[in-house]
Amino acid sequence: MRHILLVYTGGTIGMQRTERGYAPVGGFLAEHLARLPSFHDPAQPLHTLPSAASVEQIRYDVLESPPLLDSSNMARTDWIRIARAIEDNYDTYDGFVVIHGTDTMAYTAAALSFMLENLGKPVVLTGSQIPLTQLRNDAVENLLGAILIAGQFDIPEVGLYFHESLWRGNRVQKVDASSLDAFHAGNLRPLARVGVSIEVDWSIVREAPHGPFGVRPITESNVVSIRLYPGLSAQMLDRILQPPLEGVVLETYGSGNAPDNNPDFLRVLREASDRGVVLVNCTQCHRGTVTSDYAAGNSLSEAGVIGGRDMTPEAALIKLSWLLSQELSRDEVKELIPKSIRGELTEARSPR
Ligand code: ASP
Repeated sequence: MRHILLVYTGGTIGMQRTERGYAPVGGFLAEHLARLPSFHDPAQPLHTLPSAASVEQIRYDVLESPPLLDSSNMARTDWIRIARAIEDNYDTYDGFVVIHGTDTMAYTAAALSFMLENLGKPVVLTGSQIPLTQLRNDAVENLLGAILIAGQFDIPEVGLYFHESLWRGNRVQKVDASSLDAFHAGNLRPLARVGVSIEVDWSIVREAPHGPFGVRPITESNVVSIRLYPGLSAQMLDRILQPPLEGVVLETYGSGNAPDNNPDFLRVLREASDRGVVLVNCTQCHRGTVTSDYAAGNSLSEAGVIGGRDMTPEAALIKLSWLLSQELSRDEVKELIPKSIRGELTEARSPR
């Protein structure tokens, strides 16, 4: 018997219709799952999945982690709350499923991937675009798939399971607000695909770590993302870059480009970097990497901006906040930006 903990944080999946629109309701999800035949075999102890020939029996507990949130209300302290729930129960369970709203699930997945140090068990985030209570929904498939993956495969990573694919948590983005196929990673294929059978691509799954498991929280919050747009003035940029700012993800064009015909623009970046602000270059494109192919991109490196390779802006912001939360010098933080710590980026093949 495999034992899984469902950490329920909120999101559409468990929401009910209220006077003000859909909202999470405490106590409801665990009770509702016990009434659904796919999530509970009445002949077995509470919350035991019906047995399937190919699957070891899986039992789960539901840990409701109040306040249940629409994930657009999630903040750094909520990520720490989830990480601590996993830490407190780490030795008791074989794997963890975090039930979460879809809107900021990619950020929480990235945050957990960094905060959970030496993770040796599967942590799978999931949610749905349509609540479990609706006749037609994606909640049953997503939640069942997440439990089956966490319960059957020793994937020592934070993943995000949605619409038949398990993605690495720090590689994925919410790309569609309407489709049930809402998540995609532009730069890494899924860790597993669920079709007639569940196929895990072990060639890209990370190796189990050796050290003791623990939580290293994100405490630094003085970071921002700035999405470049044609006409962003140096003056506006300069205002944003002022103290107490510690880190910036610059979402640039194409393969990491920004205007290089505006000396003031590059000057304010250089001044911020000289003040100790860590600046990371990330592309606005969903697929592809920051390179040194263009003069317009190289001017950014000359101004002290560090290339973030093929990280998503979500992962880059989380990684930067996490690195700035550790006892590292600014130079150490900058050195670690283009290196893979949790599989969040593809490193350069040869040193430049
Ligand atoms: N607004 C909801 C949330 O992120 C959307 C969802 O769960 O699909 O909590």
